[in-house]
Amino acid sequence: MTTDYKEKYLRAVKALDEVEQEGTDNIKSLYDALIGVLRELRGHHKEIDKAIASLPKKIARGALPPISDLDRVKDLVVSYIDKNPVENMAPAVLDALLSSLLVLDDIRNDIVSLQQKLVQANSPKDFMALASKISRLILKKNKIQSGSIAEGDSIDDIKQSISTQLDQLGQSDAELAKSIDIVGLKKSLKKVGSLRDLEFFYRQVFEGLGQRLSKKDEFIVELSGLIETVMHQLTELSQDLKKEGVSNQQAKKDRWRLTELMGGQIKTIRTAVLQADSLVTLKSMMSERIVDLNKTVSEFVELESERSKQAEAYAKSVTTKLNKVESEVSELKSSLYHAHEQAFIDVLTGVANRRAYEERIKLEYKRWQRNKEPLALAVLDIDHFKSINDTYGHSVGDKVLRTISQLIDKKVRESDFFGRVGGEEFVVVFIGSDLENAMKRLEQFRESVENCKFGLKGKRVVITMSVGCALFHEDETPDAVYERADTALYQAKKTGRNKCLSELDI
Ligand code: GH3
Ligand code: MG
Ligand code: MG
Repeated sequence: MTTDYKEKYLRAVKALDEVEQEGTDNIKSLYDALIGVLRELRGHHKEIDKAIASLPKKIARGALPPISDLDRVKDLVVSYIDKNPVENMAPAVLDALLSSLLVLDDIRNDIVSLQQKLVQANSPKDFMALASKISRLILKKNKIQSGSIAEGDSIDDIKQSISTQLDQLGQSDAELAKSIDIVGLKKSLKKVGSLRDLEFFYRQVFEGLGQRLSKKDEFIVELSGLIETVMHQLTELSQDLKKEGVSNQQAKKDRWRLTELMGGQIKTIRTAVLQADSLVTLKSMMSERIVDLNKTVSEFVELESERSKQAEAYAKSVTTKLNKVESEVSELKSSLYHAHEQAFIDVLTGVANRRAYEERIKLEYKRWQRNKEPLALAVLDIDHFKSINDTYGHSVGDKVLRTISQLIDKKVRESDFFGRVGGEEFVVVFIGSDLENAMKRLEQFRESVENCKFGLKGKRVVITMSVGCALFHEDETPDAVYERADTALYQAKKTGRNKCLSELDI
């Protein structure tokens, strides 16, 4: 919207500039022609000669002729002529004027016909009429050259042309019409009666236009509004990016740099607006600045999106790594758990090993010390195992060990402990059990081993075991109890094997 307004404004300035140029050209042509006429008057009066000499011989294109000086010369001439009638001079003056115009082909016929009339003219009235026609011809010549004013133009024609242009200007932009006061201008245009008035009128137009270009101009205000809007949008964009963005140090730094850059550029634009003395300068300054701003923002956006892409990829790879590490950790945990378990399990038989026994007995001993609940310990040993090995081989011996281990392990209560503590030696810990109960249970174990049917190399073999059991007593260490149980076992071996004896039997 603002851009439209700006363009219309620039167009209006251009149109007015054309009107001005046209008017200046007209005045210039008239001036040049009048200079030619005045040249003819030279030598008649000292004052007039002096005034004529002070006039510039030719007017540079675009410059306004010194109409007031010419006016002064005209006054001198008129007063001279009033005092000294010079009718005889008029034909020579007008002839000189027509001859100077004769070089133009377009109006040759008109000039020839005027020259004929000049020959016939003999009264001041005839000469005046001819002079008037010549001046119209001069304006017509100008029209041919510039192509803008209608044939036979006079001041009135020029005025009409300007008025039309002002109307067109007003219709194309009502706001502009109001802004440069077209109605007022038209009123003063009506009052224009001479070239001098026209010059004055032009001055008025240009001064008015100049004021429109002043710092207080609505357009400038509107432009400032536009800048505010741009700044606001940029700030919002920056905040949006902040919300979405990656919150690392570099991003923060870049955001800060953007704010700084934007601030600097906007300051420059503001200064430019205040200092610009023409719309054209302002326009070029503005477009430069806005290009800079856009560049800064797009660079930043690019940087930021690149960074978030990187961050996303990084986050993804970190997540993958984390997942991998997590599964590795859980694998490690489970293998550690197994390793720990393995450390307490006898590889050959799959039941608890000596280390497990040592750990467990420490624990149960402490508990027994606290609650004094009865605690019994039994040592079990396979009878004549050496001969099994010797007869059937070591691996058959291993198999026997596995079978017996599993057999007893299944019979021992969950709360009690069973483990292999030596080659063919086992231990059972009875928690909260008196000696009698322990002996009862041990007897069941012994029986089940004896009743287990081993088919070794096609033969049915009976395997037995001997057991010694002891109870924990006041102030006794586990080793002492073990020793007593072992003594009972030894007693069982000594007294025929395949039996259970307790500390009471020794
Ligand atoms: P006793 O009735 O007096 O206990 O006689 P025994 O032969 O069982 O006792 P001894 O201590 O004389 O022999 C124990 C044998 O157990 C010696 C060894 O060959 C065997 N043995 C120990 N550990 C293992 C093992 O892991 N596998 C096998 N197959 N045999 C083992
Ligand atoms: Mg043994
Ligand atoms: Mg043995």
